[in-house]
Amino acid sequence: MAEKIINAFTVDFEDWFHGIELDPTTWDTCEDRLAVGTLRLLDLLAEANVQATFFILGAAAQQAPDLVREIASKGHEIGTHGYGHEFVYRLERECFRRDLERSLEVLSGLVTEPIRGYRAPYFSITPGCEWALEELAKCGLTYDSSVFPVQNYRYGDPTAPRWLHQRASGVVELPPSTWRFAGRNIPIAGGAYFRIFPYTLTRFGLLQANTAGHPAVFYIHPWELDPAHPRAIVPRRVATTHYWNLRATEPRLRRLLADMSFATAAAVIEQHGPGHS
Ligand SMILES: [Zn+2]
Repeated sequence: MAEKIINAFTVDFEDWFHGIELDPTTWDTCEDRLAVGTLRLLDLLAEANVQATFFILGAAAQQAPDLVREIASKGHEIGTHGYGHEFVYRLERECFRRDLERSLEVLSGLVTEPIRGYRAPYFSITPGCEWALEELAKCGLTYDSSVFPVQNYRYGDPTAPRWLHQRASGVVELPPSTWRFAGRNIPIAGGAYFRIFPYTLTRFGLLQANTAGHPAVFYIHPWELDPAHPRAIVPRRVATTHYWNLRATEPRLRRLLADMSFATAAAVIEQHGPGHS
């Protein structure tokens, strides 16, 4: 009998204001809502007996250190989402390195397990900044989940591999899931796509990965479980995806956790990655 495929459940741990391109100097004027969505998410994961990977933004960890300790204490894997939520492709290599080191420094004061995984803000490791993967390896990280094989106005590389693979840097890449349809990669991995597409399409797309013999990679943010968080004045295309159908997240997540098997990114790599026999 074929081995049952476990999928990666990942969380980009940041507050509602970190990923909407506000000036970071205004962050401390924004209402702290991290606990609201995170505690709902932790409850859902506990109900489903799923351990997830939380890619923690360094700035968010400083805002809510006890929450990060609580996540780790429940057995979830801790990875890094960088420190200041910057687009990687807008950074000089040295600035990227400093941002990464700063995030690792913050996390090392909060959790004891070594940090192995990275997810770039806005999935912003795009063609031309593969050097970022070399920097991850130099900082002791072993995997990345940032190269999204789609076309988006902020990110993506539609020519990138869709499945888990090893990069020249030695880092394992775990791409967010896509569904191949009509010659295109459709992003069905989570986030706004989870709220925009019908649930049945998301589930179908994720299960197609399993049918092809690969794990699916899903992602969500704590604020997506907090529909009452403040509405910021941001460019319309940012606001549309950020606030779209937030009330759907919780019931859909409950269904997804019942419909598919999930574990941490590290566990998925252990099962399917290089070295797996
Ligand atoms: Zn983010």
